[in-house]
Amino acid sequence: MLNAILITITSFMAMEFIAWATHKFLMHGPLWILHEDHHVLTGKWYQKNDSFALIFAIPSISCFFVGSFLSPKWLVFVGLGILLYGIAYMLVHDIFIHRRIKLFKKPKNSYLKGLLLAHRKHHVNLGKYDCEYFGMLFVPPKLIKSIK
Ligand SMILES: [Zn+2]
Ligand SMILES: [Zn+2]
Repeated sequence: MLNAILITITSFMAMEFIAWATHKFLMHGPLWILHEDHHVLTGKWYQKNDSFALIFAIPSISCFFVGSFLSPKWLVFVGLGILLYGIAYMLVHDIFIHRRIKLFKKPKNSYLKGLLLAHRKHHVNLGKYDCEYFGMLFVPPKLIKSIK
């Protein structure tokens, strides 16, 4: 049980790094064609960028599927970590930051303010190049300190 929790948390945390690297090197690289309409908004509710939710579902589903045949079932918990990160990404990025569904109020907490600021700074640049802050849940401490 403890191992299952540890594997799930490790997989979740690894996803923050994988999402950062994917965003920096693929989405702002060869997959910009799918990410562009998230920076240069088209006004449509659906963005091509949303396809990344489906792309990231593939490793999660694969881990659940393959893991269900293995014993012990550690790979299932890797899949669970990826799934939970996907849900967190949707809640934080799409609902909390971009307010595609108006659910959360303005934050008072300085970590959440820093998280908003980091992503706003990412969106300052509408183009593919010279963007910063590609992560999501990890907020550089200097940004949190800069608020107040
Ligand atoms: Zn971006
Ligand atoms: Zn965004």
